Amino acid sequence: MNSNTSTLASADADRISPADIQAGHTAYELDRKHVFHSWSAQEQLQPMNVIDAEGSWIWDGEGRRLLDFTSQLIFTNAGHKHPKIIEAIKQQAEKLCTVAPQHVNDARSEAARLITELLPEDINHVFFTNGGADANEHAVRMARLHTGRRKVLSAYRSYHGGTHLAVNLTGDPRRVPNDDDAGVVRFLPPFTYRSHFRPDSAAQWTPEQETERALAHLRDTLVLEGPSQVAALILEAIPGTAGIYLPPAGYMEGARALCDEFGVVMILDEVMAGFGRSGKWFAHEHFAIEPDIVTFAKGVNSGYVPMGGVAMDDAIYASFAQRMYPGGLTYSGHPLAMAAAVAAINAMRDEAMVENAARLGAEVIGPRLEDMKNNHPAVGDVRGTGAFWAIELVRDKATREPLAPYGQTPAVMADLVAACKAKGVVPFINMNRIHICPPLNTADDDVRFGLDVIDEVLALADEVI
Ligand code: PLP
Repeated sequence: MNSNTSTLASADADRISPADIQAGHTAYELDRKHVFHSWSAQEQLQPMNVIDAEGSWIWDGEGRRLLDFTSQLIFTNAGHKHPKIIEAIKQQAEKLCTVAPQHVNDARSEAARLITELLPEDINHVFFTNGGADANEHAVRMARLHTGRRKVLSAYRSYHGGTHLAVNLTGDPRRVPNDDDAGVVRFLPPFTYRSHFRPDSAAQWTPEQETERALAHLRDTLVLEGPSQVAALILEAIPGTAGIYLPPAGYMEGARALCDEFGVVMILDEVMAGFGRSGKWFAHEHFAIEPDIVTFAKGVNSGYVPMGGVAMDDAIYASFAQRMYPGGLTYSGHPLAMAAAVAAINAMRDEAMVENAARLGAEVIGPRLEDMKNNHPAVGDVRGTGAFWAIELVRDKATREPLAPYGQTPAVMADLVAACKAKGVVPFINMNRIHICPPLNTADDDVRFGLDVIDEVLALADEVI
């Protein structure tokens, strides 16, 4: 029997010993006693125990092997235990494990060179951070100081991080319980499937119409806020957490033109969509635009060591050439993270992982999701690119009524997750959506296996509508 089609009744005894499982149980108990988790009601949580991982596979606390369709939190773009990244971290740890940010370090210099080489010609400098949220915080600070303006425009249905400003830049329900930052102004982004612009009377609604109306709304927002007060527009190049919905043709170009017209800095958040996830090195390459600032994290080094960054163009850089930039981080450009990034980028290039993600999306994932949409009454929309896809579940395909109101997770999602795991796949769930985000180098057969499982368990959603 093909091991891919087996269910997960028992532990993978060839790899995981009873002692490993016992150690996993101890870790789980200690976690529940002492670890405080992100975005959770602590005592309602039943976190998954991960005791081993390799490539696109992980082993749970009972020693069972599961396909990781989440790339963890969409960051193991090169998969787990990539030998070249591990070797680079080991060598760096032995050579120079840490260094203060004010000093020069060869791993940091090389990481900055490699990253700027992948970005538009005008982007030549990088400020390194510890992750994505602080990258966005610094990007906004730079834009504010550069322009001398305060307001920042950010989209509803977005996610930019969990720290104070970043969560306020976020346009999803998680910002609501957090304190409001006075300078953030939210606007409606284009989203053809769930358009906020489509009049009830419109029998049809095209992506061109969505682009036109969304750009008119963005212009109105800018004008009404007073363009001379708006420092920056921040957009995810392809919004991820909020539903992997690609901007319709022409929107990003129109947004760029508005930024140019009003002297607003365009910050593109590539934390999730960058480093190959969308089938291009950066998601903004899907559009004919050049951002002023790009923020990144996650896939830059597959999350092997925490890291993010702000890559800025020459004009932003020039603002701080002769005056101090009032910001910094103890671990900015930490050598272990930098060595991991250099190795990850080189491995992604040498092993053509970005090209593989594009091919997987076009030939394996996309067509199969289209079939699921045709075959399952509960599948309202499927969309994505590269190794970055969403399945949106609805009560009614015609009205597009979601399986639960916006901001809520339908009860059936817990059953879907359990069924997927029982069949050997870990899915990523957000509200009424299943996100499909395997590592970029996942083997075709493994991707097909994961899709077979998703296809099978979608029957549970069909039953509840
Ligand atoms: N921006 C985007 C688009 C993200 O998807 C995320 C995390 O998912 C962040 C920022 C925040 O990154 P971090 O959690 O590393 O702070």
